[in-house]
Amino acid sequence: MSLKEINTRIEAALAACGRPSDSAKLVAVSKVQPPDRIAAVLDQGQRLFGENRVQEASTRWPDLREKYDGVEVHLIGPLQTNKVNQALELFDAIQSVDRPKLAKKLADAAQTRGACPPLFLQVNTGEEPQKAGVVPADADAFIAECRQMDLPVLGLMAIPPADEEPALHFALLKKISDRNGLDELSMGMSADFESAIRLGATYVRVGSGVFGQRVYD
Ligand SMILES: *Cc1c(COP(=O)(O)O)cnc(C)c1O
Repeated sequence: MSLKEINTRIEAALAACGRPSDSAKLVAVSKVQPPDRIAAVLDQGQRLFGENRVQEASTRWPDLREKYDGVEVHLIGPLQTNKVNQALELFDAIQSVDRPKLAKKLADAAQTRGACPPLFLQVNTGEEPQKAGVVPADADAFIAECRQMDLPVLGLMAIPPADEEPALHFALLKKISDRNGLDELSMGMSADFESAIRLGATYVRVGSGVFGQRVYD
């Protein structure tokens, strides 16, 4: 697959459900990808990227931001509280705010810095013990708690269980979002982003579909 093909498929999926062509953004998930592949995707015009590790992002994005204008990088993976300040330096949005303790740290850091990037709260829609995020039953309270701390909650993010029909999870996330008056939904990956768009995704996070398979060494 390629950036061009993914963009074409996003446009088609939006058109098929009567949504405006700019109403879902592609987050190109560059984790683990080698620098030449990332440069190729930047050269083709992509500017919004997702990384799931603070450490890995810190080794490449400061330099790439010097070389390319308008780059935006979102954190989509786990954030330890002791890395909050580093994350706030590195990322334009944090999509993986997954627990009250982290929200509190972000609120404290935001107060000190006088600014906070947009945040997405992560919901563990499949209630999987190994997965981050608040369970659906706790989502409304978590959203309210973050708002009370004046955090800029832009929307919700979820990663459905690998072995279940993702549409059910996308629909659940949409329902939680709607009843809390949130605007943005980050859901859908290489295998299921079209279904996510049908169910209201405004950000789709596509890694291998854009860059090719990740090669772990
Ligand atoms: C890796 C990752 C993706 C992208 O996965 P692909 O299947 O390669 O598209 C999306 N979201 C998160 C949170 C990820 O960690």
